[in-house]
Amino acid sequence: MDTEKDARQAPSGKSETFFIPEVLGADHRVPTLSGEWVRQIFMDNAASTKPFRAVSTFLRDMEGYYSNIHRGTGFDSLLCTERYEEAREIVSRFVGGDPERDIVIPVRNTTEGLNLLAMTFALSPDDVVLTTILEHHSNDLPWRGKAHVAYVGRLPDGRLDMQGFERSLAEFGSRIRVVAVTGASNVTGEVLPIHEIASRAHQHDARVVIDAAQLAPHRRIDMRPHDDPGHLDFVVFSAHKMNSPYGEGAIVGRRDAFAGAAPYLQGGGTVYSVSLDHVIWADPPDRQEAGTPNILGLFALAAAINLYERIGMDRVAEHERSLTRRLLEGMRGIPGVWIMGPGDPTDLEDRLGVVTFAVDGLHHNLVASVLSYEYGISVRAGCFCAHPLIKSFLDVDKEREKAFEDRIRGGDRRDIPGGVRVSIGLHNTDEDVGRFLEALRAIAAKEWRGTYHQKFITGEFVPEGFSFSFRACPGFPSEPGC
Ligand code: PLP
Repeated sequence: MDTEKDARQAPSGKSETFFIPEVLGADHRVPTLSGEWVRQIFMDNAASTKPFRAVSTFLRDMEGYYSNIHRGTGFDSLLCTERYEEAREIVSRFVGGDPERDIVIPVRNTTEGLNLLAMTFALSPDDVVLTTILEHHSNDLPWRGKAHVAYVGRLPDGRLDMQGFERSLAEFGSRIRVVAVTGASNVTGEVLPIHEIASRAHQHDARVVIDAAQLAPHRRIDMRPHDDPGHLDFVVFSAHKMNSPYGEGAIVGRRDAFAGAAPYLQGGGTVYSVSLDHVIWADPPDRQEAGTPNILGLFALAAAINLYERIGMDRVAEHERSLTRRLLEGMRGIPGVWIMGPGDPTDLEDRLGVVTFAVDGLHHNLVASVLSYEYGISVRAGCFCAHPLIKSFLDVDKEREKAFEDRIRGGDRRDIPGGVRVSIGLHNTDEDVGRFLEALRAIAAKEWRGTYHQKFITGEFVPEGFSFSFRACPGFPSEPGC
């Protein structure tokens, strides 16, 4: 199909099923406990997204030209070098980077990007990194041990406490070197006021780091000019959450911040000259790009961005908002279901289609397993790499925490607290949301078919006498694909 033409022609506001052909795996069938095969409803997009068809096709076409970049003199190497540098520009433009003053450092994912920043910022124990309780561990743990990490809390409804942010600014003042916040929460779906946060952080001369892993696939990001008070100094995101799951991510941020920084990893590609007793490091970004990069991964990210641009981020947001409205309206009407974080279906401006919830009296892993085994609906259960936030929603006090941590140490992970997360992606439709709500209604009414047993070591629930067979799926030699 002609992706570009169709993307432009799809009538605005009528995009419900339009995106399905764009996304591989948006409509294949999966087995269920009853023996029936059903169309899978994939609603685990906050974890990873399915690949865009256009990206997969592009990669297939490009693979034969694969060659290592920079310094190769053959045709394929020159071609790949040109595409690589072009991809870097596409990535920078996508988030509004400044072509002169910002650089793009390709990394494996957001986690690596944030670690790279934390390792290269030359922080000392007296410095403060101000972050929030909403963070994914990837924007929390890398800062620990490098500086004092202070956390802004949440309001009772789950939103970031902006007054608390102001109090922290006043408390730590000039000690704050970095304000590192998520662009959007992977638990509550809240979109944070990142430019307002940046303006206030810059008044304290702090650098602003945005973990854009969740934001980038769903909203337009604009780093804004460097002299704008709301400018974002660093934006980090992952391609696998943007329909390009080929092991790539990117940091876009201030070139000058890396000028004196030591390389995060040291080795080939990071130097201009090496003698046995000294090294002249290359200028950034090369200095931060040790070893052969994921060349096809960066091409794939750029190809996905091109498609996002053609569809238009406003249309992406509009499509997801209409599904989120229906989802929240439905969930709020189901007795026993409660949502962690803002759940008002009429207030979606600053909210993604990421909804974490619990069902009274039911283990989160059981809910997720019944959805999968009995309805072919893929969601996720657990703490979503945001343990402090989930514990705060579930009122897990120190005593309870100690009790289950003692059991974890003994190999029993059955009662780790958690929630269930359903997250909307570009390929989801009104019908998907309807099927999810129907299933959740039955589960909340304690209706399911199987007899489930919980595994001691993993805490997962599996139905008695049934397990998925993957033998008919691609990758298993004996039978054709499922
Ligand atoms: N930050 C947020 C908000 C996330 O949701 C995630 C992944 O779920 C990450 C960081 C880590 O991303 P990755 O696993 O791609 O490094």
